[in-house]
Amino acid sequence: MKLVLLLLLSTAALAAPRSSPTEILILYDNVAAEPGLTAHWGFAALVTHHGRRVLLDTGTKAELFLEHLRKLKIDPATIEQVVISHAHGDHTGGLSSLRAAHPRLVVHEPKKPGPFEVVPGVYSTGIIAGPVTEQAMVIDTPKGLVVLTGCSHPGIVKMVEVAVTQRGARPVRLVLGGFHMLQQSPEQIQGAISELKRLNVAMALATHCSGDLAVKMFREAFGEGPGAGVGRRIVLD
Ligand SMILES: [Zn+2]
Ligand SMILES: [Zn+2]
Repeated sequence: MKLVLLLLLSTAALAAPRSSPTEILILYDNVAAEPGLTAHWGFAALVTHHGRRVLLDTGTKAELFLEHLRKLKIDPATIEQVVISHAHGDHTGGLSSLRAAHPRLVVHEPKKPGPFEVVPGVYSTGIIAGPVTEQAMVIDTPKGLVVLTGCSHPGIVKMVEVAVTQRGARPVRLVLGGFHMLQQSPEQIQGAISELKRLNVAMALATHCSGDLAVKMFREAFGEGPGAGVGRRIVLD
């Protein structure tokens, strides 16, 4: 028993550099942030929080997802748990391959209502009703909340609102993910930006299925920030 514990502890210690308590690494996205990585429709982001690794979504093509893990030097065995935002193929594509590489992987399908803790400081909102039910991942850091979304089918404002309400109305330092605004007018996008600012959102990075217009308008409203795209590593103190 002691030996098992020791092994688990050493795996956790290897999983993350101690210098930064929180890191987000984008593993799959519609745009690429680093040469040698492939932009492709889909989304996956790896969160390392105090040495614990949890993944939001797994992209579209399993082989490309695994290739990005290799190129970014992420050992699948260091990923403890996966939260699947919603049951669309551009978020679930790599899941069975990851499970095959890591049989003890804990997977949170989008089924549980209400918020729950994934690892200390990292939560799921639980499913939020919408045209497609979806859960978001929330990281509680000393400088505020981070909200990570897959596609935001229930609406990005609604998802952030739920996350903020669940976590005691703390300010939001970063919202990142797909905002699903391809069909929306400039007025609708502007409305969402205003609502997010009202919710105390300091930075919002629209990527994946957000649409070019939303990406542009969010950049104008919130600034470039650290940027998104596969290969992007965002370190939060
Ligand atoms: Zn979707
Ligand atoms: Zn999507």
